[in-house]
Amino acid sequence: MEKVTHPYHWLEKSLQTIHRANWYRQVKTINSLPGAVVELEGRTLINFASNDYLGLAGDFRLINAAVEATQTYGTGSTGSRLLSGHRQLHRDLEKAIASVKQTEDALVFSSGYLANLGTIAALVGAKDLILADRYNHSSLKNGAKLSGAKIIEYSHCNLQDLAVKLQKNRSQYRRCLIITDSVFSMDGDLCPLPQLINIAKEYSSMLLIDEAHATGVMGQNGAGCAEYFDCTGEEMIQIGTLSKALGSLGGYVAGGANLIDFLRNRCPTWIYTTALSPADTAAALAALDIVQREPQRRQKLWQNVTLLKDKLSSLNLKLSPSESPIICINLSTAIEALNLAEKLYNAGIFAPAIRPPTVPTSRLRLSVIATHKNEHIDQLVSLAKQ
Ligand code: PMP
Repeated sequence: MEKVTHPYHWLEKSLQTIHRANWYRQVKTINSLPGAVVELEGRTLINFASNDYLGLAGDFRLINAAVEATQTYGTGSTGSRLLSGHRQLHRDLEKAIASVKQTEDALVFSSGYLANLGTIAALVGAKDLILADRYNHSSLKNGAKLSGAKIIEYSHCNLQDLAVKLQKNRSQYRRCLIITDSVFSMDGDLCPLPQLINIAKEYSSMLLIDEAHATGVMGQNGAGCAEYFDCTGEEMIQIGTLSKALGSLGGYVAGGANLIDFLRNRCPTWIYTTALSPADTAAALAALDIVQREPQRRQKLWQNVTLLKDKLSSLNLKLSPSESPIICINLSTAIEALNLAEKLYNAGIFAPAIRPPTVPTSRLRLSVIATHKNEHIDQLVSLAKQ
């Protein structure tokens, strides 16, 4: 027998490789309520790293809703939805999501990641085809793998490439599912939704969009890119998260009544996991109400986005084309991205460097939120200039 090596030694080697490539990552501790300014490792920093687009994660109304639900129903939901985990709060939240999205029904999951994994795995299998945008979020990519379907990637937002690949392959498979982020999470651009809907119809394919960064942000009523592109009512599968603009935790699928009924019976990441906690459910429900009643939050968010984009575009930076509150400054190497993030950090601004393998090229990713003040944006711009 060959010399026996220690079965866990490879971990140390792998970590060394990660360090050498400047890809090593570690957590940073925030010791305050979330917001435009946070206490991070003993320092007060302006926060451009948050997905709390409407500033709701620290809102007292969400906090109170979570506390009340905890006092009434306890901390845990104690079982899966089909066993002992279901509460009226879950159904109320699903109805509220369906109402905002103007779909027949909706289903809430314990996270957006699980919603994507399970839905894709439930809808397609070994006889089927998935066409996926190359820049899709990890949860869409892994959902596609889990499904066992044939996966073909198309170039980012490239409708021609998608059509060519469908033309060539569609007829060899039973069902077909096109999957895409609606707002791309690491780039900030949007999928061409109306054209994707047309292509999906032409090739008898289902279309699944991930509205994680669009919910509460895009469209007149915050219903996402479906509303922004005037595609409300079109048949598709809309997935999202409760953890970004809605300030809570959890995910959802919104769509036709048959789709949701099918998922309740066939979706493994919904059936075999504990139901969303009462606190998270109640906080998301309170957030959806605020999203509808306080459009001024969304207006302020977009004013901030316009202000930052205008100011940054006058500097000599390589900005990605963005149509959302996610704005990326592209840098040539991981070390350059890390250096810029560190420079900002030392000057009081929290903005993360995003590096491979999360993305193909290194960048500084800024996310704008409604509670940023003009002086926060000015400070960031004056530092990015130097
Ligand atoms: N999709 C996209 C595009 C995301 O950015 C994220 C979160 N990073 C998710 C899905 C997962 O959502 P959650 O955090 O609720 O698991």
